[in-house]
Amino acid sequence: MNKNLLVAAAWVFLLSGVNFATGQLDQVQIERSGQSYSLAGEIVVEAQDGGVLFLSDDSRLWLIQPEEIKSKSDTKNEFKPLDADALAKATLKDLPDGFQVYKTKHFVICYNTSKAYAKWVGSIYERLYRGFRAYWTGKRKWKIAEPKGPLPIILFANKEQYARYVKRELNQEVGSMIAYYHLLTNRVAMYDLTGFDKPTEKQIKQFLRAPNSLRMIATVVHEGTHQLVFNTGIQVRLADTPLWVNEGMAMYFETPDVGSTSGWRKIGVVNRPRLQQFRANLSVRKYFPLKDFIADDVIFRSSKTATDAYAQAWALNYYLFKKKSKNYVKYLQHLSKKQPLRVDGKEKRVEEFKKFFGDDLSKFEREFLRYMRGVR
Ligand SMILES: [Zn+2]
Repeated sequence: MNKNLLVAAAWVFLLSGVNFATGQLDQVQIERSGQSYSLAGEIVVEAQDGGVLFLSDDSRLWLIQPEEIKSKSDTKNEFKPLDADALAKATLKDLPDGFQVYKTKHFVICYNTSKAYAKWVGSIYERLYRGFRAYWTGKRKWKIAEPKGPLPIILFANKEQYARYVKRELNQEVGSMIAYYHLLTNRVAMYDLTGFDKPTEKQIKQFLRAPNSLRMIATVVHEGTHQLVFNTGIQVRLADTPLWVNEGMAMYFETPDVGSTSGWRKIGVVNRPRLQQFRANLSVRKYFPLKDFIADDVIFRSSKTATDAYAQAWALNYYLFKKKSKNYVKYLQHLSKKQPLRVDGKEKRVEEFKKFFGDDLSKFEREFLRYMRGVR
């Protein structure tokens, strides 16, 4: 899951796309819904009408309308993201009282559940971070970037508090969403899944032994993967990356691991629930023909087709990572150069896919399906 793509889509037509991002510190004063904000960071894109896409030093993206801007100035100083303490302070400002901070090497975790739970999430995310890095820089020889600053994570003690935050940030009901990555704030938010009130280490272990905890841990890893993908330069926030790539990759990394005491260990093992769903769909002809699938995100956005689209995106990523790894990495590197707030359109997507995987889509599709039927 990946929030706020739709909000950004509305902006695409407003910003003409002059790309700035000079690495120089800019300061902007804005007024929004009666509140003033003093932002330090860098202008990423500036539109002809004066609207701005701004990256503030807490790694948040702001889509700013011209009429919201009260003043704007550039400095000769270098733009630097906030350090962990300053990021914690900035994040706490948006949270109710009673939150504490747990820092790991790469993450700043603001929590009001137990420290034991924050530690557990921190250890999963640090392990994901190491695995993720090694995955790209090792055999795939892609020297992905380090995140520019620490990455913000928010842990709520229970679903009710989290639901209130979701309502405020996304203006929607929480439903069954247990965690999400927000493209604009760059935060992963979630709630304590154990069902215990401020769980001890022992209670967390107890939770990890329950069979339904696996799906939940997969979601925690999934959202963390989205955050890493966007903060290591593999994908660009608000760029027109196909959702089958974005979501399929997160599902490729999320695979829960029954054998691990912490709930997650490995990248790229078969994602059983997704495989089962994909196979079931194949047998009842709920399969999306490849050309449509790669051309358009619409099936991911409709609640009627989303689950099926996700399963197929996992399958396609699994195939590409396992069988076409070299070309897939090249294709991903191509996507990583896309600019924010530009839309490619369906034809261009198909064209780019062919460029990396061959003109004969039918042949590709036959091989893909044959391979996936044989996955055990
Ligand atoms: Zn996702």
